[in-house]
This record gives sequence, structure tokens and C-alpha cells, in this order.
Amino acid sequence: MFEDGRVPELPEVEVVRGGVAEYVAGRRLAGVEVLHPRAVRGHPPGPEDFASVLAGRVVEDVSRRGKYLWLSLGDVGGGEEVSGAGQAVLAHLGMSGQLLVQPSGAVDEKHLRVRFRFADDGPELRFVDQRTFGGLSLAELVPSTGLAVPDSIGHIAADPLEPSFDREAVVRLVRSRRTGIKRALLDQNLISGIGNIYADEALWRARLHWAHPTAELDEGRAHALLDSVVEVLGEALVAGGTSFDSLYVNVNGRSGYFSRSLSVYGRAGSPCPRCGTAIRRDAFTNRSSYSCPSCQPVPPEPHW
Ligand SMILES: [Zn+2]
Repeated sequence: MFEDGRVPELPEVEVVRGGVAEYVAGRRLAGVEVLHPRAVRGHPPGPEDFASVLAGRVVEDVSRRGKYLWLSLGDVGGGEEVSGAGQAVLAHLGMSGQLLVQPSGAVDEKHLRVRFRFADDGPELRFVDQRTFGGLSLAELVPSTGLAVPDSIGHIAADPLEPSFDREAVVRLVRSRRTGIKRALLDQNLISGIGNIYADEALWRARLHWAHPTAELDEGRAHALLDSVVEVLGEALVAGGTSFDSLYVNVNGRSGYFSRSLSVYGRAGSPCPRCGTAIRRDAFTNRSSYSCPSCQPVPPEPHW
């Protein structure tokens, strides 16, 4: 197990997005059943309203930015138009939330919270959440860079795998900050979708200490770090994408296999895969940072 609360990161969420999109995009919802009101606590009018707003709507697409996943909704049928840029169901997976695609009539999961039935009687979409930290909410879509996103995450920056990710601008912004590089990587307003695990992995690849001052990072190293970020996310995505069962889309039940390819994260005391030095663990905010003392030397005090 991971010492951090294992919130799914971008690669896991992208695997789920792809799976859900494959089975659900383009289908019309027949009905939505909320089996536990806590799962829709983010919808103040309550479970019945949540279900009635969704009935008859078409799930047009399943999108993601960073760790956020949403189902964008189309018309209500009969030619009736829905005003505005559109609505979406935003899924917060929390630490134990799962979106499953199951044949209609399959036995209910013990922790099934919300069931989406479709007009074609095909597979259902199910939100299962043992600890009910996650949930579903309705959101208005607002235009953002390259994508319409739920209003509640309108401030979240593009993630490095999005076509609209502006790498030059991000490098400029990072270098203009007065902070440590890992804090910048985790700042969702600057660059989204990088959590503690992939930040540590990318920093190790780029041979940068987590506290390296952003203002003293030259352009070449900043670009090399972003290359490392894209690499680690891409590799995790490939690992996840190849090992998931097409009709059973599960986030947390499959997170373990990502750990096999980790070089430093969670490996305190183990040899660095590059030089053999024992991996060190430092306290970082309320979590940990893992790095190699030789490959990632402590930077000098910043000059600000
Ligand atoms: Zn090393």
C-alpha cells in the first residue's frame, strides 16, 4: 500500500475516462437511481432532482482535465434545447470511488451509490464508493483553454497531456515563481494533473531536488523536467491502459500495478535504479518526498 491517501492521479483517471467513454458516449440516459444520498451531496436540490435533471439526456462525451472527470450532457430529446454551454456530471472519485460499466441486471455491488440506466437497455454505468468520500454533482460547462470545463474547476490549468497545454507559457510562469520546484509542479493553477507520486518520479528523472528554486531553474532544465513529466504520465497510462478489463472500469482496484514502475516514490532506503545510492525520504508539507541524494543533490539556498 501507499503511505499517502491513494487518490487516483491523471493516468488512472484517463484510463477510466477512456473506458467509460467507449461504453457510454452517445447513449441516452433512461433513468438515474441514487441509492445513497451522500453520493450526490454536491447537488443541493437533492437526489430526486439530480435524477430528474438527467433522465432523457444524452451523454455526449466523457472528458478529463488533470484528475477531474466529467460526462458532458446533450439534449433532453424531442428537439428541446438546453440553454447555455451545456451541463455535465462531474465525478469526484475521492479515495475509493469507482465508475464501473456493468451489464444491466448484473448483481449490485455492495457499495453501489448511483446507477445510470440507458434507453437502449445496454450496459449500465455505476458509481461505487465504499467510503463515500467521492461523489457526483451537476455542473455548468464554461469555456477554458481548449476545452469546456465544469465551472467548479474553471480555474484549473491545462494538464501536460492536453493539446492546449502551452509549454512555453508554463516554463515562463514556473521560472517567475519564488518557490520550490515540487510545489510549482503540484500547483493545479499552474499545471494540472501532477500529484505527489508522479512529481517525485519526474524530478528524479530530471535529476532535480524537490526544493530546487524555480527562479534559478534555467530554461533547458525546465523543459527537460516537463519532458520527464510527460514521460512518466505517458508510461503510467500505457501500463494502465493495457491491463484493464474492458467491461470493468476500476480505478483503485488497479492502482497497485502502477507501483511496479516507480523509481523513487515509496522506496526509502532502496537503491536508486540509476546510481545505487539509498533513496531518501523527506517530509514535504503533510506528505513525503522521495529522491536520490546523489542524483538529486540539495540545492544551495535560493538568492531571493
Ligand atoms: Zn541516484
